[in-house]
Amino acid sequence: MSAAQLVPIERLEELQHLQDDAFSAATLRRRDGRRVVVFNPLHADGRTRSNQAHELAHIVLQHTLRTIENVGSMSFVTCDIDQEEEADWLGGCLLLPRPILLRAAKRGESQQQIAEGYQTSEPMARFRLNASGVLVQVGRAKAARQRQTGRSG
Ligand SMILES: [Zn+2]
Repeated sequence: MSAAQLVPIERLEELQHLQDDAFSAATLRRRDGRRVVVFNPLHADGRTRSNQAHELAHIVLQHTLRTIENVGSMSFVTCDIDQEEEADWLGGCLLLPRPILLRAAKRGESQQQIAEGYQTSEPMARFRLNASGVLVQVGRAKAARQRQTGRSG
């Protein structure tokens, strides 16, 4: 759910003004045990999807919440660095799985086209193209084809 459903949007704007990346998304546990991912509605759609996937990854990985940080008069619960990195990694994999990236890269799609096609952000598409090794794989295959063409032609 949008954080604007929980607090006035003016408070979110105030927080964003204090520190732009202070709040992206958070997972709350309801009394009945169900979890709710609360996201910042002031961020762009692609970034919001990355933030939501990150939170989903925390849930899937059964991460425990550890630290309370304060920004202005607001408190936030955050995970430790290792858990954040794991959630970043799995979140990216959930948004852009390697087989999809490989197919898109073989078709010659740009990171912008991939971001638009899979409704994520360009930084996420760039990160996944590099981190998955897809760019290297496709680049080597292309170079090998060029060498073969060069030899036969
Ligand atoms: Zn996190």
